[in-house]
Amino acid sequence: MQSFQELNISAPLLQAIQGLGYVTPSPIQAQALPILLGGSTDFLGLAATGTGKTAAFAIPLIERLDPSIRAVQAIVLCPTRELALQVSKQIDILGKIKGVSALPIYGGAGYGDQLKGLKRGPAVVVGTPGRIVDHLERGSLKLDQVELVVLDEADEMISMGFKEDLELILGQIPPGMCNTWLFSATMSPGVRRVADEYLRSPKQVQVNRTEVLPATLEQIYYITQESNKPEVLCKLMEAADQFYGIIFCQTKSLVVDLTQYLRGRNYAVDCLHGDMDQSARERVMQSFRDKKVKVLVCTDVASRGLDVQGITHVLNYSIPREMDSYIHRIGRTARSGQSGFAVSLVTPSQRGLIHRVEKMTQRKMKEGKIPTRKEVGMRKVGNLLETFKNQENFARAVDLLDPNWKRELAGRSVDEVAGRFLCLLFPEIFAAERAPEKTDENPKTFSVIRKGAEPQSGGRPSYPPRRDRERRGGGDFRSGKPGKGRRHG
Ligand code: AMP
Repeated sequence: MQSFQELNISAPLLQAIQGLGYVTPSPIQAQALPILLGGSTDFLGLAATGTGKTAAFAIPLIERLDPSIRAVQAIVLCPTRELALQVSKQIDILGKIKGVSALPIYGGAGYGDQLKGLKRGPAVVVGTPGRIVDHLERGSLKLDQVELVVLDEADEMISMGFKEDLELILGQIPPGMCNTWLFSATMSPGVRRVADEYLRSPKQVQVNRTEVLPATLEQIYYITQESNKPEVLCKLMEAADQFYGIIFCQTKSLVVDLTQYLRGRNYAVDCLHGDMDQSARERVMQSFRDKKVKVLVCTDVASRGLDVQGITHVLNYSIPREMDSYIHRIGRTARSGQSGFAVSLVTPSQRGLIHRVEKMTQRKMKEGKIPTRKEVGMRKVGNLLETFKNQENFARAVDLLDPNWKRELAGRSVDEVAGRFLCLLFPEIFAAERAPEKTDENPKTFSVIRKGAEPQSGGRPSYPPRRDRERRGGGDFRSGKPGKGRRHG
């Protein structure tokens, strides 16, 4: 494998790459960098998110720009504000020493800062197509000096309905002097049409899906009834050595209900879905990055471009029918050589999806055994042992014990004292046996019922027949009934 030093990269950028901790180029970087650093060309890169594609275009983009020119020289178009923010942040980090920075421009935010930023003539604008078009129409953004356009996640932009905006933007770029680099996870017919129309003799590279999956990622599935999924999720989170993860749901209402359920069980949980405004999303993302929130429940669209280090688990409340979504989801974990688990809950009737995933990822999925409450309890108590041994300040705690405490302790065995403290620490594990787990026949056992939950949009007026509903992989979390539609956040 080539090193970054062997590529034609300037010293300031090599320093920035080193600062990010990148040692060797990822497969897409190894293939794209020699082409994009090599000279002026259009480019088509087929690579999913999580492959290192951002640096694959950000490095040559920064090399190409002149920071002394006060005009927009490059524009990067992204499907979501989260991705736009993330890409602009990465350009800022990589371009800092060279003096190249990016201005993020996206919908849902005020115009004031964006207008001020544009007046300063940033070298790079990274934005979502809709808001970029707004600025073009207002005349606050000029593209006459643009010499590089990057279309990031082009397939997503097209499937989200941005095709017209893309065409409008690309139509304003002066012909002849500009290169277009298109990155896409898939070569959908829409992407093919845009590529045919706007790329001139592009050089093309492709990173195979199997290369995308890191060896440190383990895919596990658990067979369970729809109605037991919330309980199973909790057991899996509690039985894990460490848990810092994302739970993906198919619908907004499921995201809201599950978050409420987990909050009721005292998890440090929050959610992301399409109905939240930008500032609410950013707040949630910050809490998740700061690990104040350890469990993030979200829809696929709301999680686009979500790049957080150290995620230990991705949990699929159900396997999505679109395999691209599955790949996108599991790419949130096992990053940068760290280990990670992609866990999927599968109803017996959805077993067929496992074979589809195995075929697409060319990797075997492991069937996991749902831990019993006792096993979860043993794991938790076991995990506590090291912490127990490391309590150096216990003597200070003993000083606080008044005669009442001392009397109580004197009459009890060491085992009993330890047991009582464990009950205090983990009341949920040692509580008296709970009512039997909810079944489809007994849907009302669930205590957390969000009354008046909004119907899931994009669906049909009534539930499709049961078999069809189950295959859709959605799900009404409260009743155990699968959901209507699969529209994401
Ligand atoms: P991306 O596909 O651009 O979203 O990148 C996925 C993740 O891989 C991000 O967290 C990057 O910081 C990280 N990354 C990108 N390139 C490398 C590299 N060469 N070595 C290690 N990590 C990388």
